Amino acid sequence: MDISLQSGQTLGIVGESGSGKSTLARAVMRLIGSEGRIVLLGADVTDLSERKFRSHRRKVQMVFQDPYSSLNPSLTVGQSIAEPLKVHTRMSRAARRRRVEEVLDLVGLRAEFADRHPDEFSGGQRQRIAIARAIVLEPEILICDEAVSALDVSTQNQVLSLLESLRERLGLSYLFISHDLAVVRHISDSVAVMYLGEIMEEGPVDRIFESPAHPYTQVLLEAVPEPDPLLQRSTKKRVLEGDVPDPTNPPPGCSFSSRCPFAMEICRVEPAPVVEVIGGGTSRCHLHTSGPTLGGAPLAALPVIEQTPPEAGVSP
Ligand code: SF4
Repeated sequence: MDISLQSGQTLGIVGESGSGKSTLARAVMRLIGSEGRIVLLGADVTDLSERKFRSHRRKVQMVFQDPYSSLNPSLTVGQSIAEPLKVHTRMSRAARRRRVEEVLDLVGLRAEFADRHPDEFSGGQRQRIAIARAIVLEPEILICDEAVSALDVSTQNQVLSLLESLRERLGLSYLFISHDLAVVRHISDSVAVMYLGEIMEEGPVDRIFESPAHPYTQVLLEAVPEPDPLLQRSTKKRVLEGDVPDPTNPPPGCSFSSRCPFAMEICRVEPAPVVEVIGGGTSRCHLHTSGPTLGGAPLAALPVIEQTPPEAGVSP
């Protein structure tokens, strides 16, 4: 299954810890190989020549989870933000300083903060500094790897609003990796659901959250607590048991078969087919082609429109 990020859009990547979300980010940076296609703004990063990839690499920057460790404590904020400019451009010291002040302003911080050290700032401010550093080279894509997970809820909301406003002002596109489904739903245009390094389902955000086609997506969504405690108690939910298996020794057939509540014999033998879903996107599951029921609904009611061959699968 391929993933594709369109200009000015946010692609959310979800899955449990150990599902391969961060591995996908490393595949995008070509730090590791990928078996499938990763198309970012029309360019297949898995297929670019080394020379083209080097220029592409500058267009893709990352924001990490931990704002405490992603900034060098011995450098001033200005020095940290200016570092990529020193490496990738021939800007004068004065021009670098101007650019640093410009990006600090873009992330809502004062110019004089450039002369202070990271330990003088709160977690939210440090994440703003990390974002300033990530946008200083005017990238086209930001990979946000659990970028708001270490922040409290109100700071999370402020940083999410900042990311949304930067997307509009700078025309950025985001690959937004998070285990937090509510955050992903809020910020994404489309979503890919990962399990054991494979994309199990992908599609437009509303279709994924309102009518998930894949059993793994369904169980993941059911695990999200209801805001209303009464509803939470009265709603019967399936629970995903066990841990994600060792990725170096995945189950044969469908990689989710050892934990799937709908697993059939064929699931433990043959890789699942990738099937297009009404409403957009694709799902990788035998139930779409050979199962009797899904979640109590007759198979005919499943939103399946067309099959694509299993070999189109991707496991970054
Ligand atoms: Fe479950 Fe089988 Fe579908 Fe895999 S292919 S998700 S095991 S029903």
